[in-house]
Amino acid sequence: MSAPVRNVIIIGSGCAGNTAALYAARASLSPLVIMGHEPGGQLSLTSLVENFPGFPGGIEGPQLVENIKQQALNFGAEYMPGLVEEADLRCRPFKLRVDGEWLEARVVIIASGASARWLGLPSEQALIGHGVSSCATCDGFFFRNKKIMVVGGGDSAMEEANFLTRFGQEVTIVHRREQFRASKIMVERARKNPKIKFLTNTVVEELFDVQKQVVTGVKLRSVVSGHVWEQPVDGFFVAIGHTPNTKPFQGQIELDADGYIVSTGGARTSVPGVFHAGDAHDRVYRQAITAAAAGCMAAIEAERFLEAEGH
Ligand code: NAP
Repeated sequence: MSAPVRNVIIIGSGCAGNTAALYAARASLSPLVIMGHEPGGQLSLTSLVENFPGFPGGIEGPQLVENIKQQALNFGAEYMPGLVEEADLRCRPFKLRVDGEWLEARVVIIASGASARWLGLPSEQALIGHGVSSCATCDGFFFRNKKIMVVGGGDSAMEEANFLTRFGQEVTIVHRREQFRASKIMVERARKNPKIKFLTNTVVEELFDVQKQVVTGVKLRSVVSGHVWEQPVDGFFVAIGHTPNTKPFQGQIELDADGYIVSTGGARTSVPGVFHAGDAHDRVYRQAITAAAAGCMAAIEAERFLEAEGH
């Protein structure tokens, strides 16, 4: 354990982590950001962000998150690639194992976000990267003039389906219920898109063709009639929500039943000196702007915590 104890280590480089880094750097705390398995977080996988205040014409998600990172770098934040594999938050300084190396910090800000959920079908897992994807922005391009299916009934499913109509000849949204979880405006936008078809009360039972290592179709089942049928499909996008990336903190800070960090007020976790920011805690709003605001709150709390301890 030769590296000096850091004032602040921020786990995650999405909107929350980068904003926390910006505020902490501006407070002269020399924060270190551990970038995580998805540098830039979910914004790096999105296209146009139209609802981040200050950009009347919208801004591309990857550009937005990169801008915040650049702002943090300008004030002296440091970034390191890597993944937190293990954490020891029971005594201070806190310890984090990143790619085999232990780092120490007086304050930790957990901004590790949440990762895409999968249906969990063996055929889905076998075909990830071979026609199965969780990221329309990343992989939509590969399905030009093809038949595309999107699973889910939330805003992500609507957004991805709309985006995918830029490429596909048709896009079918499959949702397990009749009612959509997505906001009205997003559903209406999808309904108005002539390339989008809807299959509600329907679940995906299997994907084909694992043998050929390429998606050729799906087996579907109506949850109302029980009718089972097969449908040809070339691209299969899963947009059924996310799971918080909090595994290394299990048993160390309080998490809820789904693994989201439980807040004890402000940006505070159950462990003094460990703060939360963004989707690792927030299961309600999950917006770029709320993640950025949470990053700001966490950094301000970190600053006050360290100041109270004379650092
Ligand atoms: P979400 O709101 O949690 O919706 C997930 C959807 O997937 C639900 O419709 C759910 O069905 C379905 N689902 C979950 N597990 C499933 C399974 N095993 N099999 C089949 N379907 C399953 O997630 P999200 O759409 O990713 O949105 C997350 C948050 O980000 C939301 O707050 C959303 O408003 C926000 N968001 C905003 C925008 C935007 O404003 N531009 C874009 C994307 C996301 P049930 O409805 O039956 O539970």
